[in-house]
Amino acid sequence: MPNIPSRRTDQRLATRFLELKRAAGTHSPSIATLRQELPDLEIRVDACFLSNPYATDLFMKRLESDLLVDGGLRSALEFYPSQIAVLAEILAPVIGADPSQVFIGNGAIEIIQALLRNWVPRKILVPIPTFSSYYEFVNPGVEVFFHSLRSVDGFALDRSRLVADVTRERPDAVILINPNNPDGSYTSQAALYDLLSALRDVPLVIIDESFIHFAFEDENLTPLSSVPMVREFPNLVVIKSMSKDFGVAGIRAGYAVMDPSRRRVLTANGFLWNVNGLAEYFFRLYIQPQFQCEYEVERQRYIRESRTFYGALETIPGLRSFPTMANFALVGLDANRQADAVVTQALLQHGVYLRTASDKIGLEDGQYIRVAARSTHENAEILTALRSVTAT
Ligand SMILES: *Cc1c(COP(=O)(O)O)cnc(C)c1O
Repeated sequence: MPNIPSRRTDQRLATRFLELKRAAGTHSPSIATLRQELPDLEIRVDACFLSNPYATDLFMKRLESDLLVDGGLRSALEFYPSQIAVLAEILAPVIGADPSQVFIGNGAIEIIQALLRNWVPRKILVPIPTFSSYYEFVNPGVEVFFHSLRSVDGFALDRSRLVADVTRERPDAVILINPNNPDGSYTSQAALYDLLSALRDVPLVIIDESFIHFAFEDENLTPLSSVPMVREFPNLVVIKSMSKDFGVAGIRAGYAVMDPSRRRVLTANGFLWNVNGLAEYFFRLYIQPQFQCEYEVERQRYIRESRTFYGALETIPGLRSFPTMANFALVGLDANRQADAVVTQALLQHGVYLRTASDKIGLEDGQYIRVAARSTHENAEILTALRSVTAT
């Protein structure tokens, strides 16, 4: 049973939770932080972090036998990992790139930082709402132009509005997150190709496909990627975090595919062993055909279950969910409800940790929450919590 604290504890916990959220800035306090700071709170479902729980299970099963039972852990930690050029070599064929195009990072965040430092001297265009690093990590003095995605369009990218803004603003870089975080909106690969053709004069276009494993364009859920477009558009860099689709944020693994000239600049001084031994283990597992097959089963299962979950979300009165191709949905609340209050209530009364979007530029009216899809039984708990907090 969810623990139902007394009213006074309730208020103390609510205040402390909102303080922790504020302290985390544009990110959210992790489950570990919440457990440490709010020990009397029972957190049953983390619907804030955006990961495929089945993929984590699969990964952990393999890690236990390879590293713990078979003793690989000592060498993963005792020795230097492979240099990233070696990992690029083995990863490239699996992601449809040439090794000379592949850069591997200590999480996608490291790659985002490196790109912004090196190639955004003056101005960047970021569609909003967005993942905050794209404007927070720019060099001092860089101008950030926010291109608003509109809720009436379901936050979908509108090609002509975007191209008009780019033509007028002349940014050094344009950011496209696909599917977008936090709204899940998706631009088809054909539409992206068309857009890239119109953006050939922009020095740098980033497509962040950290959530692409959850998107599909056909009923077979065929995997998608913009990586093949890098050859035709040398200004394009495709970034991919492994944190969300494999549920392994703790090991810090991400990659990017870019024109070889850009990769040479990045590796000219530094980034030799920026990937740790566990991340190397992950990448070496990821490329195994057997693991790929097993992952594909879990990926498809998770997508199908997530679609059922989104369908159920839509039936809850007082909630408005936006079309999503990611493993989360952005949900709008009735005008008389505030996201921070809904999130606090769901956490305290039901142990369900949702993500307020009130800190997201473009959603500051405080009427949106982001809900991650989890396993089937966790989804049921999320739905119960949402039905209950929106009924009161
Ligand atoms: C989470 C996230 C990242 C960061 O990924 P890491 O690999 O964990 O650093 C990058 N881009 C987007 C859009 C994300 O949501």
